Amino acid sequence: MPDKNVLVLGGGVAGLSAALELARLGIGVDLVEKTSFLGGHAIQFSCKATDKCVKCGACVAEEKLEDVVRHSNIKLLPGSHVKKVTKKADRFSVTLQKTPEYITPQKCTGCGVCFEKCPSEGAIIRGFSKSNVPFYAVCEGKCLFVKDKSCNLCQEICPENAITLDKKSCSYSCETDAIIVATGFKAFSPESKPYGYDIFDNVITNLEMERMLRQQSIASRPSDGKEAKKVAFIQCVGSRDAKLKHLWCSKVCCGSALRMARLIKMRQPETDIAFFYIDVQTFGRDFQNFYENVQNDVRMIRAIPGDIFKTGDDRLRVNFFDNTAQDSIEECFDIVVLSIGLGPGEDTEELAELLNLEIAGSGFISASEDGIFTAGTAQRPMSIAETVADAGKAAWDTFKYLGIPQ
Ligand SMILES: Cc1cc2nc3c(=O)[nH]c(=O)nc-3n(C[C@H](O)[C@H](O)[C@H](O)COP(=O)(O)OP(=O)(O)OC[C@H]3O[C@@H](n4cnc5c(N)ncnc54)[C@H](O)[C@@H]3O)c2cc1C
Repeated sequence: MPDKNVLVLGGGVAGLSAALELARLGIGVDLVEKTSFLGGHAIQFSCKATDKCVKCGACVAEEKLEDVVRHSNIKLLPGSHVKKVTKKADRFSVTLQKTPEYITPQKCTGCGVCFEKCPSEGAIIRGFSKSNVPFYAVCEGKCLFVKDKSCNLCQEICPENAITLDKKSCSYSCETDAIIVATGFKAFSPESKPYGYDIFDNVITNLEMERMLRQQSIASRPSDGKEAKKVAFIQCVGSRDAKLKHLWCSKVCCGSALRMARLIKMRQPETDIAFFYIDVQTFGRDFQNFYENVQNDVRMIRAIPGDIFKTGDDRLRVNFFDNTAQDSIEECFDIVVLSIGLGPGEDTEELAELLNLEIAGSGFISASEDGIFTAGTAQRPMSIAETVADAGKAAWDTFKYLGIPQ
């Protein structure tokens, strides 16, 4: 058993990377994830390789997750969040609240019968990676048994007897030598923007497009499942926005949207794709080359549209001012994809209070106290590659803090 132990908060790319680095250095890790599944945002992304790898980083989350679940120095605590932290003589005592393990991982084979037969939509949720065991989880907010005990169908029909609904959440306490905060970001909610999100079915976010391309390969209209023939991407939704006081660039959205556009064009060559932008942020060594090529497949329009309206034949009418033509233009699309920005994680303030973290004016974590380290997008927008590098640094700083002779 390792003598030193670190608590890592957050099971996204940052938390997985930091946990792995420490585990490989012989440190015991408790990896706490508040949702039912590890992998964070990036585990939902589709590989965007066309004729060759475009270095989107989507596979990194999958690889890290596979290694983490196999590592004997890492204890996984999904469905958990921190309630209390106290520090005594260089050690932290931490109390966690853990949601019940309704589906026993050792018994679940991932057959999916519970998911298919559940009468309450969204009550059984599915992970994105088979490395998450179990691959299914009970969503307490939607489960009829949790609500009023009116249904226990999944428990009755599970062929492995892996489901027990009559369980209570419990407290879990542990002692740790250091803490790494890797609680990530919150994607901007675009309901307040004039684009009809949550009103028109075919206005979706880039995160939803990522999931669509991962799960069903092609871009289709959510309203009727038909293949999309015209797609618009609108950039900087919730980023570089003075009214929202979100002045920062989210860094990853231009690259991510253009790679998705290229993938759609490869899989659905007939599809017309327009890309509305303020200016294109490039990142990564090969991006310039990629950007030059992508302009053969995608119409680049330097304008940010105004309102979006639904037409009588269920399409989306987008209005914008074309700077080149010096004219107002109206164009109809099948799907509009909003590239929502990266903002501070939703638990940041609560964690700041529990752990004495400093928060910058932007709302991201800016500094932490002795024995507490931060990693990844909890501090600012970062790409997956930057997140891995930052988590590696946080793990190394933690290792040095623990004072283990090398
Ligand atoms: C639409 C979209 C597309 C993107 N595309 C790309 C791309 O193509 N290439 C690229 O390099 N980057 C891309 N990114 C950026 C990429 O998502 C991030 O770099 C990466 O996810 C950061 O990982 P993270 O671990 O810091 O944060 P997250 O992925 O947010 O993970 C944080 C984890 O912590 C958990 N958590 C939060 N609060 C708590 C708590 N209190 N206790 C316990 N757990 C908690 C969360 O549930 C989550 O699992 C994209 C981002 C978006 C939004």
